[in-house]
Amino acid sequence: MKKYDVILVGAGIVGLATAYKLMKEKPETKLCIIEKEDIIAKHQTGNNSGVIHSGIYYKPGSLKALNCRRGYEMMLKFCDENEIKYEICGKLISAITEDDVKRLDELKQRGEENGLTGLKILSKSEAKESEPYMECIKALYVPQTGIIDYKQVSKKMLDFILSKGVELKLNKKLEKLIDGNKNVTIITNSGEYETKVFVSCAGLHSDRIVKMLNKKQDVRIIPFRGEYFLLKEEKRYLVKNLIYPVPNPNFPFLGVHFTRMITGEVEAGPNAVLALKREGYNKSDFNLRDMKDTFTWKGFYNVIWKYWQTGVYEYYRSIMKYEFVNSLQRLIPEISSKDLEPGGSGVRAQACDRNGNLIDDFLFSESANVINVLNAPSPAATSSLSIGLTISEKIIQRLENN
Ligand SMILES: Cc1cc2nc3c(=O)[nH]c(=O)nc-3n(C[C@H](O)[C@H](O)[C@H](O)COP(=O)(O)OP(=O)(O)OC[C@H]3O[C@@H](n4cnc5c(N)ncnc54)[C@H](O)[C@@H]3O)c2cc1C
Repeated sequence: MKKYDVILVGAGIVGLATAYKLMKEKPETKLCIIEKEDIIAKHQTGNNSGVIHSGIYYKPGSLKALNCRRGYEMMLKFCDENEIKYEICGKLISAITEDDVKRLDELKQRGEENGLTGLKILSKSEAKESEPYMECIKALYVPQTGIIDYKQVSKKMLDFILSKGVELKLNKKLEKLIDGNKNVTIITNSGEYETKVFVSCAGLHSDRIVKMLNKKQDVRIIPFRGEYFLLKEEKRYLVKNLIYPVPNPNFPFLGVHFTRMITGEVEAGPNAVLALKREGYNKSDFNLRDMKDTFTWKGFYNVIWKYWQTGVYEYYRSIMKYEFVNSLQRLIPEISSKDLEPGGSGVRAQACDRNGNLIDDFLFSESANVINVLNAPSPAATSSLSIGLTISEKIIQRLENN
C-alpha cells in the first residue's frame, strides 16, 4: 500500500489553497490529493459568483470575519504574483426602506469593526453618480469589493503544487476511512493508501467524511441551489459594478443582487432553493441518497419550521420569472423580463445542526490524525488562502508530533 505524509481529499479552492500553503511552508512533504471528478474546481469553486468579498457582513471575531479579511489580502498578493486578472471595483448596498437605512448604519459599523476603511453612506444622488439606474433611499459604498475568476486562481495554485511533486489523483472517490493509531487508511473506488495526516476539504460531502470516521454526526449538509440569470449584452449598461440589497440579518444568504463578472457578463440572482441532488445544477436533478440524507435529518424539519415562508417564496420565485423580475426591479426598476437570459447555477453546501440552525460560521472538526473542513460556504473562496494557512499549520504540527 502506497504511503504518504498527507492525503487531502477535494480539489476545490479550499483543498488547493491548503496544499499550496503546505508546499510553500514544507516543500518536502509527500502529499497526495484525491478528487472524484475528472477536473479540479468542478463544484462550488467552479460555479461561484467570482466576488472578492470585503468582509463587511460577518460578525466581528468570527472565523468568517478573520479569514475573509486576512484571505482578502493574501488573495490579492497571490494574484499580483501570478498575474491573475482581478478588479477592485467596489460595490453599493442599496437601502430601499427606512428599515434598510437603519441596518445600513449597523452594517457600516460592523465593517469598521472588521477593519474596513473608506466605507461611506451615500445619498440617493451620490449613489446615482456610480450606479445611475439603481433605486435607493441611501446606499453604502464598500470600496474593497472586487471580482475575479476563482477557476483561474485554482489552476495557478495547482501549477505550483504539481511543480513541487504533489500527486493529483483525479477520478478517485474516497469511500472509506480507517483512523488507526499512527496512520489513516484511505480506501477509494480504485486503490488503498496510507497517510500520517488526512485532510478533508470535500465541500458538499464534508458531513459524509465525518460519518466515515464513525463520529456522532451533529451536522449535516443541506444543499441549496442558487439559480441565476444574465443580463442580455445590450442591457449590461444598467449595472456598472456590484449592486446588493441590505441582507436579512436572520438568514445566511445575501438576497437577490447584481454582479458584474470579470468576463464582463452581469449576473442577476440568486433564487436559493433546496436542491434534491448535492451536485444537481438543474431544476429536475435529483438523487435518492442525497434526498434521503436531507429528509431523514431532524434538523431539516426544524429549518422548515423556522424558514418555511422564505422557502416557499424562493420556490415560487424560482418557477415564476415575473416574481424574480419583481425582486430585481426593487434594485433596478428599469429591468424587465425580456432583458434577462438564463444564467448558470451553483449549489451551496450549507451545514445545518439537529436543531435546525443554519451554521453561519466556518466550521472544522479535528482529531489526532484528521482535519475536516465541515462548513466552508461563502466567502470561503475569498478566504481560501487564509483557511489553507491555518490548516497547513495544523498539518505541520501533526507531522512533527507523528
Ligand atoms: C452559487 C455560489 C456563489 C458563490 N459566490 C462566492 C463568491 O462570489 N465569493 C466567495 O468568496 N465565495 C463564493 N461562494 C462560496 C465558495 O465558492 C465556496 O465556499 C468554495 O468554493 C468552497 O470551496 P471547497 O474547496 O470547500 O469546495 P468545492 O469547490 O465544492 O470542492 C470540494 C471538492 O471535493 C470533492 N469531493 C467531495 N467528496 C469527495 C470524495 N468522497 N472523494 C473525492 N473527492 C471528493 C468534490 O468533487 C469537489 O471537487 C459561492 C458559492 C456558491 C455555491
